[in-house]
Amino acid sequence: MRETTLWRALLGVNNIVIESVEFNEDTTAVVAHIRPRRPTKGRCGVCAHRAPWYDRGQGRRRWRALDLGTTQVFLEADAPRVACPTHGPTVRQVPWARHSAGHTHAFDQQVAWLATQCSKSAITQLMRIAWRTVGGIITRVCADIDARVDRLAQLTRIGIDEVSYRKGHKYLTVVVDHDTGRLVWARPGRDRATLSAFFDELGAERSAQLTHVSADTASWISKTVAVRAPQAVVCADPFHIVAWATQCLDEVRRQVWNQARRKPGGMKAAGSHVGLRYNLSQGEARKIQRSRYALWKNPEDLTENQRTKLAWIEASSPHLYRAYLLKEGLRFVFRVKGEEGKRALDRWLAWASRSRLDVFVALGRKIRRHLGAIHASLEEGLSNGLVESVNTKIRLLTRVAFGFHGPEPLIALAMLNLGGYRPDLPGRS
Ligand SMILES: [Zn+2]
Repeated sequence: MRETTLWRALLGVNNIVIESVEFNEDTTAVVAHIRPRRPTKGRCGVCAHRAPWYDRGQGRRRWRALDLGTTQVFLEADAPRVACPTHGPTVRQVPWARHSAGHTHAFDQQVAWLATQCSKSAITQLMRIAWRTVGGIITRVCADIDARVDRLAQLTRIGIDEVSYRKGHKYLTVVVDHDTGRLVWARPGRDRATLSAFFDELGAERSAQLTHVSADTASWISKTVAVRAPQAVVCADPFHIVAWATQCLDEVRRQVWNQARRKPGGMKAAGSHVGLRYNLSQGEARKIQRSRYALWKNPEDLTENQRTKLAWIEASSPHLYRAYLLKEGLRFVFRVKGEEGKRALDRWLAWASRSRLDVFVALGRKIRRHLGAIHASLEEGLSNGLVESVNTKIRLLTRVAFGFHGPEPLIALAMLNLGGYRPDLPGRS
């Protein structure tokens, strides 16, 4: 076997001529000096169209390739420019790397695969690159997948949601396919202009194919859908509605705690205002403060300790316990769904309006305002679990993506993980 054939296989690159392979100056890395097999036929690095020679550009350049064993590897080659009719003087396309990338295709591919498999520190240490570099690489890889596949094909039932990705009101609008559970679209912003961009990409014909759109009840979503896909039934996402009840419950818990804290062991009047059956000691007030998780959790997931806490709340604070039952009642509505769910919702609304808990009375009114969308959701029984789990996963990814530059790498990370087109490892398929 010729030595160059061996090196081509080891470096994982085709269509190149290997001129020499040697150690770098301080023998810490292997450098392969290469050139494209047909250097005379230059193509623009951006658009890949044929273009005539322009100049030598910046001279020799290096690209990081995958390590060989324990040793780092670089490819080194000329990077001349061609005169593209569209893009002007542009660095010539090379077969081993993306335009303006400092890493080879195989390197990019491996980083993208790792980004769907393991932790931040595992990737940066294994590949010896900064987290920001990972962000740049996955953005490039994701853009290539986007150019190859049509993520918006055959959508009929979609969920639209917003995800906060940074403090200071930075949001992404995300679109999920209810039938596949895939994330199909994400863009910074949460307003009518952002959502309109989705419908622009979808086009009039495919917008007309949409039968159901689930969302929270934000007007920027419902108004845009009413204009761009008027035939689609708008459903209220159950997990948003239940989240409203959880917020109300939390408000009641805070009121009870504040009262108990302000009047430690104290006045009956203060206690009775928020429905304390007896006066709480300071320690017991703190117990209310710490009961958040017991109140939030679904009853079937409660630990023994949390069960005890809940029994104690039932005995000591009837208002807080009533708020808890109201939250659970609303969860029940969406669990049974259909006509039974609608009947349960009617009972719930009557119960909430006479609960004497201001926040739940207000919630009842809010739910009545959106009754149409909530009924549609109960009738359709949309696979809410899929959308909710995508939603939860995106929120986890926003934390992983901390340290990336801008929202694009986060979108790429979310798309690689949840978009249904996971990258393969290089050299396998
Ligand atoms: Zn071009």
